[in-house]
Amino acid sequence: MKTLILGGTREARELAAIASGEQGFDIVSSLAGRVRDPLLPVGAVRVGGFGGVEGLRKWLADNGIESVVDATHPFAGSISANAAAAAADLRLPLVHLRRPGWSARPGDRWIRVPDLGAAAKAVGELGDRVFLTIGRQGVGAFAGSTRQWFLIRAIDPPAGELPPRHELLLARGPFRIEDEVRLLADRRIDVVVTKDSGGDQTEAKLTAARRAGLPVVMIDRPPLPAGAVIMENVAQVWDWLRSAAE
Ligand code: NAP
Repeated sequence: MKTLILGGTREARELAAIASGEQGFDIVSSLAGRVRDPLLPVGAVRVGGFGGVEGLRKWLADNGIESVVDATHPFAGSISANAAAAAADLRLPLVHLRRPGWSARPGDRWIRVPDLGAAAKAVGELGDRVFLTIGRQGVGAFAGSTRQWFLIRAIDPPAGELPPRHELLLARGPFRIEDEVRLLADRRIDVVVTKDSGGDQTEAKLTAARRAGLPVVMIDRPPLPAGAVIMENVAQVWDWLRSAAE
């Protein structure tokens, strides 16, 4: 069973580690190539865009791919849609591996918003010092916010226009609760902005915000294509792959 794993997440690396080298499986992981020093999955890896749906369809056909796992980040909406279209055209089995989103707990002050633009609008009313922890993509949506000061945390520097008053903090998770509590206090943060990425690697900021009584602007995930088969964890996808291979 020759399988393409669309990656860029911890779950994608975990699946590649389990399936690579297993008898009867030939696994290729794909990364977009956004991060300068990516964490590489075990086994075969290709890097870079495919060239839209058409490019992906051609790549799948040329490489004899028999099944596809979309294990990209929940906010990587374009590649998930492209995967769904290309797999449907070629009648290939496709599953989307999506870790569950976060759920508010007692004491949380979350404001859910549908997208980055709504998040930029919401922070205007919530405070002057903003912790922007949405990764390097999407920071441009806040470039017009001239009044607030932003602490922008990302693995690599964001490209494009940034809000004029900011500090850039380059760091890769996982982060510890004590460190997040200290960061919020040191930078005198009023409001936290995050994508609803889910998972435990970056959840500490939510605990820290709860302890500090700070509001969190939580950006909802983009929807997956209609009819998508969604699985929440690596074990489920591995079971699915093994039965598809039988
Ligand atoms: P996106 O908006 O859905 O994709 C934009 C384009 O990047 C796609 O059309 C595709 O180019 C290429 N691409 C994306 N993922 C790819 C992959 N795994 N392999 C090959 N090409 C890929 O995605 P994104 O939000 O830019 O995310 C890019 C990568 O970063 C993904 O692998 C994702 O898992 C990871 N990531 C994203 C976030 C986030 O917040 N968005 C956070 C952590 C990690 P072509 O059309 O040319 O094929």
